[in-house]
Parts: sequence; C-alpha cells; structure tokens
Amino acid sequence: MKPCKVCGKEFDQFKTTQRVCSPVCALELSREKAARTRKSVTRQMRKDFNASDRSYQLKKAQESFNGYIRERDKGMGCISCGTTDESLRYDAGHYRTTGAHPELRFAEDNCHRQCHYNCNINRSGNITDYRIGLVRRIGSERVEWLERDHPAKKYTLDEIIEIKLKYRKKLKELKLAREL
Ligand SMILES: [Zn+2]
Ligand SMILES: [Zn+2]
Repeated sequence: MKPCKVCGKEFDQFKTTQRVCSPVCALELSREKAARTRKSVTRQMRKDFNASDRSYQLKKAQESFNGYIRERDKGMGCISCGTTDESLRYDAGHYRTTGAHPELRFAEDNCHRQCHYNCNINRSGNITDYRIGLVRRIGSERVEWLERDHPAKKYTLDEIIEIKLKYRKKLKELKLAREL
C-alpha cells in the first residue's frame, strides 16, 4: 500500500513506478506537471526579457547604486535637515534629480542619505537645505562641479549592467569592511 501522489489515498501498486491511485488522479497529476512547466517557461522568458530590457536594468542599477549610498551614509544625518532619528525612513536622495539631470544619476557626490517624508517627499528634496548640508560635507568646489552643465550620457545596456554589478560589489565590500 502506498499513498496516492494526488489525493493521498492508500492504494495497491500494480507497478513499483505507479504513483497515483486512479486514471482520474493520473490526469490531475499530468495537469499539475504541465502547469508547472508553463510557469517555469514564463519565468525564464521574463528573466530573458528583463536581462535585455534597458529600462528594467536601469531601474536595477539605480536600486543598486542607491543601496550603496544608503549604506555609505549609514549613521549620518539627513543631508538636508540633519535629523539622525533612526526611527525614520531614509532614502538615497539626489541633489540634482535623476529626472532633470540623468547624467548625474550615478554620481556619488550627487546622492546622499535623506529623510524620506520630511525632506524627500514633503519638501521635494528640500534642495535649499540640501545645498547647505552638501557644501558642509563635500566642500563648495565639488558642489559647484555638480551644478555645472554636464554632457548627456547614453549608457549602453552593458554599461548599465556593469554599474549595477559594481555597486552591488561595493555594497558588499563596505558591509564586510564594517564587520571587521
Ligand atoms: Zn488518488
Ligand atoms: Zn531631512
């Protein structure tokens, strides 16, 4: 006696390979198998699609970069208002926004830990105070560099993926260094 793979009922096996109790359960089993195959094909197709989709990879690269910035600035106050309240949520806030200045989206000087609600959301980045905090942190020369015009950047898909991997690695290394 063996439990049926599908309904769990005990049954007598005719062959040692028999896994289900009846033709009804055999049909159900093959249906489940087909559904699993369909799902895994869909998953693989999505994966392949995402791997070559520029805007998806750009989003992933930005997430990777921002994650590194948050870790780099861990324990530091909000760049704009200076709060160090650890019960707040923090973002990686861009001084010159990625919308208006996409060429600076991966510039480390252009991105700092910022409190989510008060500065990033409610005060749209609180740019006036951001500048004051930024000058204090990196000096006016580097801030002025950010404020200059920069040539537009057109990243290739490979470059975007490279940036994504680079910042994942930098994040890992930074975390490791902190554990020492
Ligand atoms: Zn059964
Ligand atoms: Zn703030």
